[in-house]
Amino acid sequence: MTPAETPAETPAATTAESEVAELCAELIRIDSSNYGDGSGPGERAAAEAVMARLAEVGIEATYVESAPGRGNVITRVAGSDPSLPALLVHGHLDVVPANAADWSVDPFAGEVRDGYIWGRGAVDMKDMDAMMLAVLRQLTREGRRPRRDLVFAWVADEEAGGVYGARHLTAHHPELFEDVTEAISEVGGYSLEVDPSLRLYLIETAQKGLAWMKLIADGTAGHGSMLNSDNAVTELATAVARVGAHPWPITLTPTVRQFLTEVADAFGIPFDEHDPQPILDRIGPLVRFVGATLSHTTNPTQLGAGYKSNVIPGQATAVIDGRFLPGHEEDFFKTVDTLIGPKVRREFVHHDIALETTFDGALVESMIAALKAEDPAARAVPYCMSGGTDNKTFFADLGVRGFGFVPLRLPADMDFASMFHGVDERVPVDALQFGVRVLDRLLINY
Ligand SMILES: [Zn+2]
Repeated sequence: MTPAETPAETPAATTAESEVAELCAELIRIDSSNYGDGSGPGERAAAEAVMARLAEVGIEATYVESAPGRGNVITRVAGSDPSLPALLVHGHLDVVPANAADWSVDPFAGEVRDGYIWGRGAVDMKDMDAMMLAVLRQLTREGRRPRRDLVFAWVADEEAGGVYGARHLTAHHPELFEDVTEAISEVGGYSLEVDPSLRLYLIETAQKGLAWMKLIADGTAGHGSMLNSDNAVTELATAVARVGAHPWPITLTPTVRQFLTEVADAFGIPFDEHDPQPILDRIGPLVRFVGATLSHTTNPTQLGAGYKSNVIPGQATAVIDGRFLPGHEEDFFKTVDTLIGPKVRREFVHHDIALETTFDGALVESMIAALKAEDPAARAVPYCMSGGTDNKTFFADLGVRGFGFVPLRLPADMDFASMFHGVDERVPVDALQFGVRVLDRLLINY
């Protein structure tokens, strides 16, 4: 046909599904690496990109810079029923650094290849940042109104503790989160395929607590050739070995028990609480997320003492990365103190709460309904994360009940857990499209 004969084509309307991949790629192309030392200026650029995409459809947002370059974006959509509490949907804009030499692609190019978007942040968590943007833009373009107020927050600094992000916002701008009682964010909502007729979607309802502990032993300094029954290095090394080698018993929190029960049922295997390993064997690489949630853990990570071969130092130190189960903080520290003994002191390098909420209520029901509407093979199960997210800050500071819910229907053979902070991080384009459909249903119907 000549151009004159070509039927007039109206350009396809932009939808959340049609633009979510490009929005994700756009954010990946902004290097917002967080080195934890204030360097890495990309957060402001990422926040400005979000602001621009919101402004394009007429959404006004609040920009909060907690320190130069540390940009946060917050906007509220008014719901139709003011009697309902608000829901917070939050995502962090920073990413962990990537060493380009290790990657098959440029980690900051946002390349689409083989049906995946590749790049740092593709799953942690510019995927959700883009899904939030795409759904909000679509609701706005179509003039649809949610039932309750929705607060969207794109924040800085999650990867270094949230001091310039969530913590700053809850401390200095709590009014932005007025009436918020619940939140969704990373890390949950992704699928684990049992067989083509059954996919488990893991929704995060609990997180272990964190205790980075410095152990300090004081002793008598002296010459290395002489008798010394008060050697700080010996005392510390004994304590570190005991803590590091301690066989923490399996302790099933309500969330972990429910998770194991559901997974056993899905795979048709028995649930033996004294031997859950056969169940964990069925979840493949996802064991990275949940393998450490059946007990406390204490891993020695740093040691320090001495300055010369023949001088006994007066002090020796070590750092232990401890992670405790929700509801069992007290017995964790009691045991640690018994293990280190009376001669070794303990200080916190960093201490953060554990979280656990129940897998019930209207929000959970809405998440399940939204998943099932888009994937009839979906069955949602709660799980506990061994790490932590910004949900801890929103809970600790504002009492917000948080869930990990970034809905992604993943290919059965995808090693999703290794994508987090991993080399060749990537996300399937069709998983993002699934995600915006689920989120749209959830945010409108809840
Ligand atoms: Zn993250």
